[in-house]
Amino acid sequence: MLWSSSSCLVSVEEHSSALAHNGVLFLDEVTEFRRDALEGLRQPLEDGHIVVARASGAVEFPARFTLVAASNPCPCGFEGDPKRACRCAPNRAMAYQQRLSGPLLDRVDIQLSIPRLSRAELLGCEPGERSEAIRNRVEQARERQRARLRGTAWTCNARTPGRFARRTSLLTADAERYLSGAVDSLALSGRGFDRAVKVARTIADLEGSERVEGGHMSEALGYRAALAKEEAAAVG
Ligand SMILES: [Zn+2]
Repeated sequence: MLWSSSSCLVSVEEHSSALAHNGVLFLDEVTEFRRDALEGLRQPLEDGHIVVARASGAVEFPARFTLVAASNPCPCGFEGDPKRACRCAPNRAMAYQQRLSGPLLDRVDIQLSIPRLSRAELLGCEPGERSEAIRNRVEQARERQRARLRGTAWTCNARTPGRFARRTSLLTADAERYLSGAVDSLALSGRGFDRAVKVARTIADLEGSERVEGGHMSEALGYRAALAKEEAAAVG
């Protein structure tokens, strides 16, 4: 568990990254973390290791993890809510969200805005899809990736180099078109471009599709759209 108001947060972040190796690092209320602590995640998210430097020397730890983070849209939690008014001072919500830097968000493949549950959803008791079924689908997708990557140094799409992913992901003409369009419309960085390809390849694997179709690429790019809109608003 991480916490947000400790003078040793940078140290906590360094060790948490390494402790989460091959697992999940979940940061709740991520915008409450100190910015330098969050920026320290960029190296492990990119390289899969972290270097802890002290006066006596530097030590490298493996730190390849899945980062999951959650945040309210503003300090009061109601910015953009159709039912309740945000009580924060003007521009406070934007300042709150800007605690996450563009380079850090560029390393986050899936960004989702989760609206409040409706009354029907709160009162309803319809069961969702069972975890067992989802697990089977994920395991099958992982197996497809292992089979495709057999003989290489990697076992899943996320860990492949960008150039390799672009060359081997089998994009259809439609998928290429969506990707090409997004370079301008979403102002994709080189990193964002490669990550979108890998996410689209993974969505195709989850559906058991040999090729990455237009719909797979469109969905993958949609997960990056929130970041692009914020950047466009900042530029405008
Ligand atoms: Zn608010």
